[in-house]
Amino acid sequence: EKKIRIGIAGYGNLGRGVEFAVGRCDDMELSAVFTRRSPEELRVASGTPVYSFNDIETFAESIDVMILCGGSKNDLPEQGPELAKKFNTIDSFDTHAKIPDYFEAVDASAKTSGKTAIISVGWDPGLFSINRLFGEAILPEGETYTFWGKGLSQGHSDAIRRIEGVKGAVQYTIPVDSAVEKVRSGSQPQLSTRDKHTRECFVVLEEGADKAEIEQTIVTMPDYFADYDTTVHFIDEKQLKEEHSAMPHGGFVIRSGKTGEASNQVMEFSLALESNPEFTSSVLVAYARAAYRMNKAGDTGAKTVFDVAPGLLSPKSAHELRKHLL
Ligand code: NDP
Repeated sequence: EKKIRIGIAGYGNLGRGVEFAVGRCDDMELSAVFTRRSPEELRVASGTPVYSFNDIETFAESIDVMILCGGSKNDLPEQGPELAKKFNTIDSFDTHAKIPDYFEAVDASAKTSGKTAIISVGWDPGLFSINRLFGEAILPEGETYTFWGKGLSQGHSDAIRRIEGVKGAVQYTIPVDSAVEKVRSGSQPQLSTRDKHTRECFVVLEEGADKAEIEQTIVTMPDYFADYDTTVHFIDEKQLKEEHSAMPHGGFVIRSGKTGEASNQVMEFSLALESNPEFTSSVLVAYARAAYRMNKAGDTGAKTVFDVAPGLLSPKSAHELRKHLL
């Protein structure tokens, strides 16, 4: 049978992750990588041909699904609606508050072109969103809790790096064990922001920078740190590189609800990821299979994970799935 031809638009952490993930799928092949940088200078692990973003439209007939690996802040708002004019697409747009507007923009393109564009795929938004939905639908009386970590937060690390006198930094978000245990017990506690997570920062200073002042700037930073208990460790560049280069993440979605007279029911979905981007990319690739099939079936326009039937993610036939996984 013909393989699904995949393109990668943007070659950063997710782009590399998609490359590996496609390599593990027998029903797919990686056709091309597209970049805004100079294609000649980009080293691609698998030896897949690299082209300039400017030429991407000429591949409209030869790529079945384009996986968008650009950043949510600046790249996807432009690339998402643009590429859905020519391709079936998958992206990981994760600016939660802007998802409804982004959906409308991509939908307008995909409806016109007759393509299928699944947006905001990954784990949060993505697999966590599905589990929040299951929890609410199945246990209408109850509370949903999302905990993140232990994991490296790119946004918070960047915020520290922007402080004058800081040379390098990483920030880990850590769920508070006692809060997780309370939720798991079924007691449905009221938890403040500070109750649920702590933040731990590892910071490398420029020469002559004032430790106490920078620590104060971090822990009082509005939106990012002021509402949390934050610990700051000062380390050297070598330690930062050796001990903090990985991108772990994960977390839990827990729904605690009541059924019958007063039975406690607790649903939990959890992830422990050594590499956030590699896992996210693996989710993108599974959804690329679904986008291909939905488009073949005439189901066009923008979609989210809520619109995709789980069976479409699997390379197995519906018959095989009924036989082995039900
Ligand atoms: P990167 O910063 O690694 O890559 C983003 C883009 O930047 C690439 O597509 C690439 O475009 C460009 N780029 C990459 N490396 C370089 C470089 N060295 N110099 C110049 N440009 C570069 O981001 P990630 O891949 O880590 O993440 C992408 C997005 O995925 C994030 O913004 C995040 O919002 C989202 N995400 C979503 C998750 C979810 O669960 N839904 C989970 C994790 C991430 P080009 O090749 O065109 O230059």
